[in-house]
Amino acid sequence: MTPERLSPRGDLQNLEGYHSPQFDVPVRLNTNESPYAPPPEFVEAWLDALRAAPLNRYPDRGARELRAALAAQLGQPIERLFCANGSNEVLQTLLLTFGGAGRAAAVFEPTYALHSHIARITGTSVVAGERTADFAVDPAAARALVADHRPAVVFLCSPNNPTGTVETAGTVEALVDASSALVVVDEAYGEFADHSAVDLVADDRPLIVSRTYSKVWSMAALRLGFCVAPPWVVEELEKVVLPYHLAVPTQLAGVLALRYGSEMDERVALLVRERERVRADLHTVDGVTVFPSGANFVLLRVHGDGHALWQRLVDRGVLVRDFSRWPRLDECLRVTVGTPEENDAFLAALREAVEEVRVA
Ligand code: PMP
Repeated sequence: MTPERLSPRGDLQNLEGYHSPQFDVPVRLNTNESPYAPPPEFVEAWLDALRAAPLNRYPDRGARELRAALAAQLGQPIERLFCANGSNEVLQTLLLTFGGAGRAAAVFEPTYALHSHIARITGTSVVAGERTADFAVDPAAARALVADHRPAVVFLCSPNNPTGTVETAGTVEALVDASSALVVVDEAYGEFADHSAVDLVADDRPLIVSRTYSKVWSMAALRLGFCVAPPWVVEELEKVVLPYHLAVPTQLAGVLALRYGSEMDERVALLVRERERVRADLHTVDGVTVFPSGANFVLLRVHGDGHALWQRLVDRGVLVRDFSRWPRLDECLRVTVGTPEENDAFLAALREAVEEVRVA
């Protein structure tokens, strides 16, 4: 007789896992990573540092060297830096600390699904505001939502995944001034936009900006993210996160990568040029609408069956992200900006595939 299995916590029983197919195809433009490996000199320096590291000892719990290096790079005091295993762990720690039972987090849909997913996992309820027709957050509507629901945490994703929309500093400030809620600006794609909220962070403002090494810094495999926040927030996060959560290889990589800032700036400039080239080319394709983007990806809508288009791209060896059945994103696909060759392969496959699915 099989013993009865324990079911998950009541509020998690209808939870769906993270669904984003990972296939081995020649052109993978589905998860917004950098198409480039880190510089070989970085890898050498990192391996040397790792060989010299005392692996029998726990890592520095305060990640001081890493936080100091990031603080210097961002022109911020070290007390405002909190680092974790990817910005997802930063967001999870924020919600474990400031969310939870009886508290709510606000999101503006359509946006990064992990904000509401992590909220639910931490027992935080979710209130969803809508974006405008051009996918921006309307400051007046956002303030009204915050006044009605009094969330503990407000997520603003800028540039927004998957739409690419960049919020103005005015919208960030309107939300910060609206209540005592913590406003979390998720800038996972911040380097690709023309402005950032990092410089708005201050010791007496409930504003947090999260960032990642997974995109520009070509380190998605290593899992490193951080946030810039008032020191009192950082102190609370440090109490909640597991001790020694950030492994030595990750901390070392985070410090050493910062030596390659000018190479990364060049990569950002190249990817932004490629993004605009891809967008300009998509504009010329009949049956496709393309949206503006401040990120390293582009959202497009096909006038036809978006899922069928996604499948036909896969059949041609090109994997993009299928949002065609998402609320407000009907028939939309999101394509990561890759190398010029990958982008050419995508554009060629798209031109063929669109002809097979679009309605005249
Ligand atoms: N925020 C947004 C908006 C993202 O798109 C992603 C990655 N998909 C993340 C956070 C998480 O990135 P990571 O955990 O790799 O830092």
